Amino acid sequence: MATSPDATVETDSDAEQRGTFTDLGLAPAVLKALRDVGYETPSAIQAATIPPLLAGRDVVGLAQTGTGKTAAFALPVLSRLVPGGTLPQALVLAPTRELALQVCEAFERYASHLKHVHVLPIYGGQGYGTQLSALRRGVDVVVGTPGRIMDHLEKGTLDLSELTYLVLDEADEMLKMGFAEDVETILAQTPATKQVALFSATMPAQIRRISQQYLRDPQEITVKSRTTTSTNTTQRYLVVSQAQKIDALTRILEVENFEAMIVFTRTKGATEQVAEKLRARGYSAAAINGDVAQPQRERTVEQLRTGKLDVLVATDVAARGLDVERISHVVNFDIPVDTESYVHRIGRTGRAGRSGDAISFVTPRERRMLLAIEKATRQPMTEMALPSVDDVNATRLTRFDDSITAALGRADEIRQYRDVIDHYVSHHDVPEADVAAALALVAQGETPLLLTPEADRRERFADSGSRGAGAGDRPDRGPRERGGPKATYRIAVGKRHRVEPRQIVGALANEGGLGRGDFGAIQIRPDFSLVELPADLSPDVLNRLSGTRISGRLIELRPDQGPGARPRGERSERPERRDRPDRPARGDRAERGDRPERNERPERKPRH
Ligand code: AMP
Repeated sequence: MATSPDATVETDSDAEQRGTFTDLGLAPAVLKALRDVGYETPSAIQAATIPPLLAGRDVVGLAQTGTGKTAAFALPVLSRLVPGGTLPQALVLAPTRELALQVCEAFERYASHLKHVHVLPIYGGQGYGTQLSALRRGVDVVVGTPGRIMDHLEKGTLDLSELTYLVLDEADEMLKMGFAEDVETILAQTPATKQVALFSATMPAQIRRISQQYLRDPQEITVKSRTTTSTNTTQRYLVVSQAQKIDALTRILEVENFEAMIVFTRTKGATEQVAEKLRARGYSAAAINGDVAQPQRERTVEQLRTGKLDVLVATDVAARGLDVERISHVVNFDIPVDTESYVHRIGRTGRAGRSGDAISFVTPRERRMLLAIEKATRQPMTEMALPSVDDVNATRLTRFDDSITAALGRADEIRQYRDVIDHYVSHHDVPEADVAAALALVAQGETPLLLTPEADRRERFADSGSRGAGAGDRPDRGPRERGGPKATYRIAVGKRHRVEPRQIVGALANEGGLGRGDFGAIQIRPDFSLVELPADLSPDVLNRLSGTRISGRLIELRPDQGPGARPRGERSERPERRDRPDRPARGDRAERGDRPERNERPERKPRH
């Protein structure tokens, strides 16, 4: 490999030094999509890789999932696509079908303001028919697993003669999965002029050799972890799905003895959504992000400082430099895209010699990020369990006891009330303990003191139509059972796409949080299927379900209008992706049907 003086870049730049996405030279339509998605600053790997990729240079990036590497290659590729072609200009190789689908979704999200960009996932296990017809219609970006891409190349059904960009995503994983030969064959059989970007979490000898043999003078980019001195902050993590995060946060708020908390999300939209959900649950919460004007931000921070506000939901940019002693807890609702941001975030607690607590929500795929974080902070993180109903109740009872003890300390007022109670007892022949219990009931109001498993389930059910906060939002997936009237819905996958009822049930149950009792009859027709589901699906669930994919295909679920609405011989619901109206980015979808205010927050004991 020819090496140039700047062949290796180690980046540990501060977010402040990284500038903005606009500074990186991306296409205006791509920048517009990024504004919709709500990212505020490029991650370290993005800031380092986007400029050389835009300049046409090959790149080797050492980065793992959770660092923002997908956007690091997708944004420059999309910025440089030439419109109007029919043969693929970009090919992304990924080790698994799940990753391929995720990368596809990311491309589609970032391409939402580019006209006529067609992205196609190609992976094994999916019928060839769908892939072939899409290829025939014309595709700009193919994202696939190496085995199936090789099959297409051998059959002559995938023409890569006009390929300009080739990305190897999670290259080390592809090799581990036995794809080395396929990857090399694809590298060798594609035009010599193509630009190659190789991303890998590790750099084993085999990858180094591949990069030396097939890449041209690549710029190597490693994101160096910033290290910190030891902190007085306890670091814990909780493995949760995106959908469980709000419930998890609520439980943490109930059981943790916090004074003030900062909750970090990745996107601006998510700060607002999370803050709103917390307010609906009775917490004094507010959002700050890069779009909130400076004076307003300052007012909010002041409220946090003086105790008018207990929970601040923020993006990294908005919380930069924030110094509020009351902050006892930091919750990473979304773990940050780089370790440097993590270090900065947890530095918001444990101020002025106090101790602090940091809790990070980690989705199963992001587990590897934990190692990088531990390395950067030089501190182990301990796994915590989701607080149970019993944990919540134990805390509520302790707080209740504490509030009685505190009231008993107000001797003069207690004396006055004693007379009132004595009078009551002497006139009603009721034991004093019963009177005390009755007063507890009055004090508690409508809200039961203890959470029952049934009430807990009801709460989740009531809220499930309005979930979706967080970057790369995933809807609520808690299983729900519902009897009630059913209606027929239509989805744009049928026999032709080789779907089976179990795939339909699996996808809808997962994405819509539906339970077994929610499904009625399923009829699979040649081009579409009809599924009986509860008639009262909320608009939000409908929206989520219509954006669900089965075998890589958008199902576009909608209420069935009956045979009259289906032209005879109709082949495909969506022959051309270009006809599809723009969908808002997942993270920015409108919230509907939020729960009414419950105001059930128990009194909290001040932290000492
Ligand atoms: P990846 O490492 O590509 O799997 O990305 C991890 C997560 O970070 C995804 O949910 C992205 O949507 C999100 N993400 C990527 N870039 C940024 C950014 N610059 N700011 C905030 N979130 C980002």
